[in-house]
Order: sequence, then C-alpha cells, then structure tokens
Amino acid sequence: MIQSVAFIGLGAMGYRMAAHLPQHFDTVMVWNRNFAKAEQHAAEYATHAVSLEAAAQADIIFSCLPTSADVEQLIQTLDIKKGAIWVDCTSGVPDSAKKLAQDLAEKDVTFLDAPVSGQTIGAENGTLTVMVGGDIKAFEKALPAMQAFGGLIKHVGESGAGFAVKAVNNMLMAVNLCAVAEGFTTLKAHGVDLTEALDCINASSGKSMVTETVLPQRILNRSFPLTFALPLLAKDSGIAVDLAREAKLSTPVLSIAQNMIQAASALSDKESDFSSAVKMYESWSKITLE
Ligand code: NDP
Repeated sequence: MIQSVAFIGLGAMGYRMAAHLPQHFDTVMVWNRNFAKAEQHAAEYATHAVSLEAAAQADIIFSCLPTSADVEQLIQTLDIKKGAIWVDCTSGVPDSAKKLAQDLAEKDVTFLDAPVSGQTIGAENGTLTVMVGGDIKAFEKALPAMQAFGGLIKHVGESGAGFAVKAVNNMLMAVNLCAVAEGFTTLKAHGVDLTEALDCINASSGKSMVTETVLPQRILNRSFPLTFALPLLAKDSGIAVDLAREAKLSTPVLSIAQNMIQAASALSDKESDFSSAVKMYESWSKITLE
C-alpha cells in the first residue's frame, strides 16, 4: 500500500503532474528548489510543501528535473526511505538510470526511469504517456501513482529503457520539425499559400504531430509559446545520437537533425520554445513561415 507520495521539481511539467496526486493519495508532499513554487502548489492543490529531506521519506518519490545530472546531484545529498521507489520523470540519460538503479538498490531503494510525453497540456489533463524502465515489481507497485497523471503507461524494459524510448521519440519529433521547416520554406519560395498547403498535407501521408499542432498553433501564428524549451530538445536529441553511437550504428539523418537542433538552440535565447528552431531556417532563407 502506498501511504505517501512526494514530487520533486515543480517546473512546467512537474507543477501540473503533481496537481493530480491529491485526488488519489492522502499525503502528497512537494519540494522545489525555488521554494515559493512549492508553497504556491500547496496553497493551490492542498499538497504539503516540505523540505527535500522530508520528501525523501515518502513511499513513492517522483522527480522531474531538466537533466540526469541534476537528479544525480540531488540524490547524492539524500537519505532516502528504505523500501521507497524513486520514479524519475526527467527525460534523462539511460546510463545514469542504470547507475542510479544500482547505487540505490544497495540502500534498499528502487529507481525507475519514467519519462513522460504529451507536453504541458498532457500534464494538465493527466493524459501523459509514461515509458518506464526498471524493476517490474516496483513498476507494478508505483503504477497507481503514475496513473494519477498518465494515460498510456508502459513498462518498456530494464533500467534505462524508458529514457532510451523518450530520447528516440523526441529525436523523431526533431527530425520532423527540421523537415517541416525545410518543406514549408520550399513551398513558400514557390508562392504556395501555406495555410491551404497545411490543410492538404494534414489530410495526406506527410502529416505528423508537427504539421497537426506545432506548425499551426506555434509557428504560422508566430506565437512560439514557451512550454518545452529548445535546449531541452537539444539535450534529448543528443541523448538519442549518443545511444546510436554507443551501439556503433550509422544514423546520418538523426545526426544531421541533432546538429540542426543544437545549432538552433545555441543561436536562441535559452527561454525559447522548441518550435522556434525554425527561426534558424528563416534567417538563412529570408523566408518567414507565416
Ligand atoms: P522546467 O525548466 O520548466 O522545470 C525544471 C524544474 O527543475 C524546476 O522545478 C526547477 O526548479 C528544477 N531544477 C532545475 N535544476 C535543478 C537542480 N539543479 N536542482 C533541483 N531542482 C532543479 O522544465 P520542464 O518541466 O519543462 O522539464 C522537466 C523535464 O521534463 C525535462 O527533462 C524535460 O526534457 C522533460 N519534459 C518536458 C516537457 C515539456 O513540454 N515541457 C514534455 C515532456 C518531458 P526552479 O523552479 O527552482 O528553477
């Protein structure tokens, strides 16, 4: 039985994910580095803003930080409850998950890598896809807690497998984002109406999540709302390319897209939404996608 849950890292995703937990559990603790956010969460959702040390005493401890390095650094400082399950929803590095799972097992704590997909709207609606790597018994035990914010929740393999699936997923989105930027720039250069073209493509074989939502809702209307920062996409595509490299695979398409996203991120403000990667193409071509 899960008596208590905690959520560490109330960013764009974590704040919304943790908001679902009080509907399912009596004791929900939250912690954030900027503690005012934890206090705001407690006031808004009847969670308890607690110290990091107290959060580490929950039965299930969620984390959702930018990188695996951030999670490792934080875990190092903590005395975690014996028998607890640490569910890391960060989009992280598979090797880090393997190491944390091994290190924490020695302290009788189970580590699951459980990154999520579905953007902030999915976090808000509790419909995220959760891809989980690690011990299957711990997965089954933590499942009711993950169901608070998850729609499709899958155990995908050993420690690190969840992070690997997430990295490849985001890599595929990055490839598509670059391809859509190039394809629509080409159409505009030939005088085609982009809105009409988009309607056709979204009813045809070239459609994707990028053409269905990112292009119309973020790029063509020039809103670029910050919900998923471009440096985070650069990090994820880097993880995917590293995985391919470790397996000694030749993945030229992934490598080129990763280079493009990396360059776009380096040229942008770090508070830029991932969709603003297209601005790099716009500056090269002098063609604006609107
Ligand atoms: P945000 O930048 O919005 O939030 C980051 C959170 O981590 C904040 O709570 C921040 O605290 C905290 N934090 C940052 N560094 C540290 C640290 N060194 N120690 C402790 N806490 C720290 O990120 P997101 O919520 O967007 O993303 C979180 C993770 O989820 C990332 O791995 C991302 O790739 C992934 N993700 C994001 C999606 C999105 O649409 N945004 C979708 C799916 C996955 P503070 O408030 O103090 O800065």
